[in-house]
Amino acid sequence: MGSTDRIKNVAARVAKWHDAGHQIVVVPSAMSGETNRLIALAKEIMPQPDPRELDMIASTGEQVSVGLLAMALLAIGKDAVSYTGWQAGIRTDSSFTKARIQSIDDTRVRNDLSQGKIVIITGFQGMDEDGNISTLGRGGSDTSAVAIAAALKADECLIYTDVDGVYTTDPRVVDEARRLSKITFEEMLELASLGSKVLQTRSVEFAGNYQVPTRVLSSLTDPLMPLEEEANSGTLISFEEESNMEQAVISGIAFHRDEAKITVLGVPDKPGVAYHILGPIADANVEVDMIIQNQSVDGKTDFTFTVPRNDYVKAMSVLESQRESLGATKVIGDAKVSKVSAVGVGMRSHVGVASQMFRTLSEEGINIMMISTSEIKISVLIDEKYMELAVRALHKAFNLEQA
Ligand code: ASP
Ligand code: MG
Repeated sequence: MGSTDRIKNVAARVAKWHDAGHQIVVVPSAMSGETNRLIALAKEIMPQPDPRELDMIASTGEQVSVGLLAMALLAIGKDAVSYTGWQAGIRTDSSFTKARIQSIDDTRVRNDLSQGKIVIITGFQGMDEDGNISTLGRGGSDTSAVAIAAALKADECLIYTDVDGVYTTDPRVVDEARRLSKITFEEMLELASLGSKVLQTRSVEFAGNYQVPTRVLSSLTDPLMPLEEEANSGTLISFEEESNMEQAVISGIAFHRDEAKITVLGVPDKPGVAYHILGPIADANVEVDMIIQNQSVDGKTDFTFTVPRNDYVKAMSVLESQRESLGATKVIGDAKVSKVSAVGVGMRSHVGVASQMFRTLSEEGINIMMISTSEIKISVLIDEKYMELAVRALHKAFNLEQA
């Protein structure tokens, strides 16, 4: 919501759903740019803000939007009431700035709904057991919305955002990228964690754990568009078992441009090696993604893994300082690599997906540095120079431009 006009728009849309007979809970996030502004303000006073106090400040953006939205509804004659996270019974742990929701006491909300009220609850925030305000991490209103939908056993959680759904890949890279009308939550999780930042990853985990049908749709459409049409727009994140998925084997090509790889050469192949290499990396708070250890030759092996490019320098210096005690001959790295992944639940029942992926890359002359797979995903690490080429070639090879 960027302005009071946009808030009036949201009110008109909400009223439309309510008039059609639905019980509605709305979970707004702050007005655009507001959370950034609040965090910047905090940093002017304290460059590394105290997390509890930062949450006190950052959570206020949402309080303004719920109040404004409630008033916009009252102004058009709808009965509406707004609540903060704690008033709505949202209990979190105490990890300020990245708190997790632990429980929701929805008594008050249910009561209002049964009286025909539209309930508006701040996204992004809750309260810990000592009564401190907490926030759920950037983009956390998605998670608030899905969690509240789960508690209330809502028919569907609609997430209105600035994109009109989930695409087969990033349309900025492939012109022919196509919006998916349905995707399973597992695929969505892979796509979300692989860089398609449509929803906060944790909200997708929540949707999966509590089986909340969740739809991503555009907030930029005419609020008075026909309800039927709106109800079928966007992308529905659903559950494989209960829906007949689009027949494609692959649903999307995801990518992570900013990766780096590190190789520790000539380490003795003995118990504890992986632990002694990756332990200090974890202690330095660096997340490791792909890992391979080679077959050993004469009792020595090479060990390669990837880290986010931002952490490359830190990870290299950690390993340099450990090199002697590891007994390694050398630590080398490459900070210009990218990961490209094909994702699809159809892989479970189809063979040959990996070989088609590798054939496509080989036809384009792209060298694969590392490979990793899961049940519904195949990822390759390649030179950053070829990332977009790889994404386009794979998108075409798996016929993703065709519905
Ligand atoms: N306002 C919060 C943020 O900017 C939460 C959200 O938008 O989902 O991160
Ligand atoms: Mg958001």
